[in-house]
Amino acid sequence: MRFSGLKVLTEGLTGNKGWGPHWRNPEPKPEYDIVLIGGGGHGLATAHYLAKVHGLTNVAVLEKGYLGGGNVGRNTTIVRANYMLPGNSEFYSHSLKLWEGLEEDLNYNVMHSQRGIINLVHSDGQRDAFVRRANSMCGQGDDGAMLDRAGVEKLLPFLDFEQTRFPIYGGLYHKRGGTARHDAVAWGFARSASDRGVDLIQQCEVTGIDVENGVVKGVQTTKGPIRAKKVGMVAAGRSSQVAAMAGMRLPIESHVLQAFVTEGLKPCLDHVVTYGMGHFYISQSDKGGLVFGGDLDMYASYASRGNLPLVEHVAEAAMTLMPAIGKAKMLRSWGGVMDMSPDGSFIIDKTDIEGLFVNAGWCYGGFKATPASGHTFAHLLATGTPHPTTVRHRLDRFRTGRGIMDEEATGSQHNLH
Ligand SMILES: Cc1cc2nc3c(=O)[nH]c(=O)nc-3n(C[C@H](O)[C@H](O)[C@H](O)COP(=O)(O)OP(=O)(O)OC[C@H]3O[C@@H](n4cnc5c(N)ncnc54)[C@H](O)[C@@H]3O)c2cc1C
Repeated sequence: MRFSGLKVLTEGLTGNKGWGPHWRNPEPKPEYDIVLIGGGGHGLATAHYLAKVHGLTNVAVLEKGYLGGGNVGRNTTIVRANYMLPGNSEFYSHSLKLWEGLEEDLNYNVMHSQRGIINLVHSDGQRDAFVRRANSMCGQGDDGAMLDRAGVEKLLPFLDFEQTRFPIYGGLYHKRGGTARHDAVAWGFARSASDRGVDLIQQCEVTGIDVENGVVKGVQTTKGPIRAKKVGMVAAGRSSQVAAMAGMRLPIESHVLQAFVTEGLKPCLDHVVTYGMGHFYISQSDKGGLVFGGDLDMYASYASRGNLPLVEHVAEAAMTLMPAIGKAKMLRSWGGVMDMSPDGSFIIDKTDIEGLFVNAGWCYGGFKATPASGHTFAHLLATGTPHPTTVRHRLDRFRTGRGIMDEEATGSQHNLH
């Protein structure tokens, strides 16, 4: 089934009876060429690119819950390419280019909206850092421009420009940044992978990874054993638990990150705004809700819900930056489990076990990475060699100290993430 304007019109006029399910619901086969553990955004994107780019369709995605029920459906949907460090910069630039063609590629409306992101500047030091970042972004071929205070005020007149603790001096403006509808991203990748022959198996928890003489042989699941020539672990917040099934100890700590949404309001916020000093970021969804979030809950946990002190902290930051938000009713908050790596950057690599691959360490920023994570992980699984944009994202960097990357330039220090 292809989506088109004509199809939408015809279905609308004939009672919407012609829409089928977006993906098949197969039972697992006894054996696959490739099994992916985790039906989140990254697992589904990997399946799409394995089928589309490499013609590999004897592939299964095993998901313990339902497709898109993990972080891919829980994030604040920010998509950007404003990274600075060599390695991350190229990767996120690659990802944003994939986002820009994604709807056409998937024939699916993922509501990618390049509404622009403004990172607010509150000190001279921060301005210097953002000027440097803007230059790096432009050097990478992306866009980054500095706004002065008047420039920010013109775009975001409702911010509190009178507050004296963290006065707004300007902003870093990334015009191609924005948002996308997170569930639709999962559904679009799932539909495409399923149409191309990949089996998406829900309610199928992987409970063991079979390894014989250093070679992966398959997985044990709640739907029985499944043999596989290659296995990709793409389990985000559960990465350490899944890798432990193969006897591996990953350099990952899982932490909760919460997000919040208000009641639907008339359009009032055209951009994504980040307020680093208060650790707060906000955008408005197409339904009208103000979607916002803050920092991690700061203790390791696998619970998909957060603590009240963080709710208070985020609400305070919101009121400091944008006092008018106090008039909106907050409808819901929720949490997701973040796979935090020590240097804040991800891992896409082979493991020491032949045929077993790892995709993890996305921290709080893996949604924007979804297309490139899938694209580059599929490349590694299919060819055995890393994609040029992931050559630095090796697992052994934490053991050898070579190539550690740190988005905040703070060094490899667990408790800072
Ligand atoms: C509140 C919040 C806000 C965020 N905001 C942003 C943002 O604005 N921008 C951004 O870029 N990123 C953001 N992120 C991060 C982003 O959502 C994640 O980094 C990304 O979604 C992780 O990849 P994924 O989609 O594959 O994860 P998931 O959707 O979590 O997929 C992993 C899947 O693996 C499955 N699984 C786990 N164990 C097993 C098992 N044993 N067997 C079978 N299946 C298993 C899980 O059920 C899950 O469905 C945010 C996250 C949260 C929680």
